[in-house]
Amino acid sequence: MPVTRYYADHAWLGGGRTVAGVIIEVTGDRISALHPTTPPPHPAPDLTPRPASQPASHPTPQPAPDLSGLPAARRGTTGPPPGTVHLRGVTLPGLANAHSHAFHRALRGRTQRERGTFWTWREQMYGVAARLTPDGYHALARAVYAEMALAGVTCVGEFHYVHHDTGGRPYASPNAMGEALVAAAADAGLRITLLDTCYLRGGIGAALEGPQLRFGDRDAEAWAERAAGLRGGGHARIGAAVHSVRAVPADQLATVAGWARERGAPLHFHLSEQVAENEACLAEYGRTPAALLAEHGALGPLSSAVHATHLTSRDIALLGGSRTTVCLCPTTERDLADGIGPARSLADAGALLSLGSDSNAIVDLLEEARGVELDERLATRHRGHWLAADLLRAATSDGHASLGWPETGRLEVGAPADFVTVGLDSVRMAGAPVDALLESVVFGATAADVREVVVAGRPIVSAGHHLLIENVPAALSAAITSLTTSGPPASGAGRSGGTASIPTEDAHE
Ligand SMILES: [Zn+2]
Repeated sequence: MPVTRYYADHAWLGGGRTVAGVIIEVTGDRISALHPTTPPPHPAPDLTPRPASQPASHPTPQPAPDLSGLPAARRGTTGPPPGTVHLRGVTLPGLANAHSHAFHRALRGRTQRERGTFWTWREQMYGVAARLTPDGYHALARAVYAEMALAGVTCVGEFHYVHHDTGGRPYASPNAMGEALVAAAADAGLRITLLDTCYLRGGIGAALEGPQLRFGDRDAEAWAERAAGLRGGGHARIGAAVHSVRAVPADQLATVAGWARERGAPLHFHLSEQVAENEACLAEYGRTPAALLAEHGALGPLSSAVHATHLTSRDIALLGGSRTTVCLCPTTERDLADGIGPARSLADAGALLSLGSDSNAIVDLLEEARGVELDERLATRHRGHWLAADLLRAATSDGHASLGWPETGRLEVGAPADFVTVGLDSVRMAGAPVDALLESVVFGATAADVREVVVAGRPIVSAGHHLLIENVPAALSAAITSLTTSGPPASGAGRSGGTASIPTEDAHE
């Protein structure tokens, strides 16, 4: 089995600080050894800025001075030992993007042209959803996942609900769309949890119509039967999702929750993103969405509530008491004017946090991480709700656990070899103090500072370039152009053998 030894200038091994000079030995797809060294009393780490284009030395290690005669502590701050691949900067576990709708990436910029509301945004989103085909979605998702990889994301939770062909006709292969997403993640080098989403109605008291027909299964049993046909693999796991209490009637919730529980699979749901959702739920059921989901067995340690913005104190107690993860998506919540959820109160009540790029208006998990703290500061006019390490845990280990990869997202012996290096050589990171590198990364770095990405022992990004998809911007541009230009949408043929008619751009509930 191939063994690669990496030398990280600095690595975050899970504590409150980074460790200087860490050897990460990878055997196959796992971390087989970690050799942190102790910095000398007066650390003088090599933070010399290097040109941003200087790659890590994949695949041939760069020559380095022979330091074998020096104490380990000195080696740790002097440079990479011979035979190691040098990771220049701060190496973190791979980032988990716990909530994505890949096709929303095609809306970036377009939905900012006019003033509007959450609901007008949703109409535009439906316009894009109407045009998706398995092949077109594969091309778009492959490029979107490559964009994520460049941002340090090594595992994506895809909350997937565009299941069927136009008008709701099943594809010849009923999971053609989901399979296209699983293949797209493989192409981009990411792990994926496909959260196959149950979506049965257009809203409380409203049938599916227009593009929504593509989302719907007959009922939760039909959803369960179709979803049972999905297969995971080395890079893919399958989970379940309830779109929201708007889209799944109460008497169907237990079927989806049971499906996930039987399989030990994650169960995700949008929760209380908008006040209107709460009002409709209260009107129909006389209880909040969180209370309704709790009643039907949907909360628990393998469950994730996405957004959880507008909650009562009882909702917070239900989510925290059940150890449900709360997935925050600050850049989308800002974009859609959702509001600021009670993240600190949720964590104090026992909930874990994860982070998601959701609408992919921005793909930057570091921005999501600091957004949790910075939004809370605005809401409370106090600072210091979260430490940088807390926010990184949400972005790494807790995010992975919420996607059904509890063994991933940590730099530990035996863990999958997924890691990300944030460079210190940009204008943003220059001057970062060695005793505050985590804080510098969380509050100062962006996706553009991600230099190296390794997933399952395989380098997929080096020197900021994707190694599997040569030109990610061109791939994004081509996929988005073909999805959004006027004229007939791409044929529904290809993987599915189906056909598609011209959708309406202004579909609504
Ligand atoms: Zn979402």
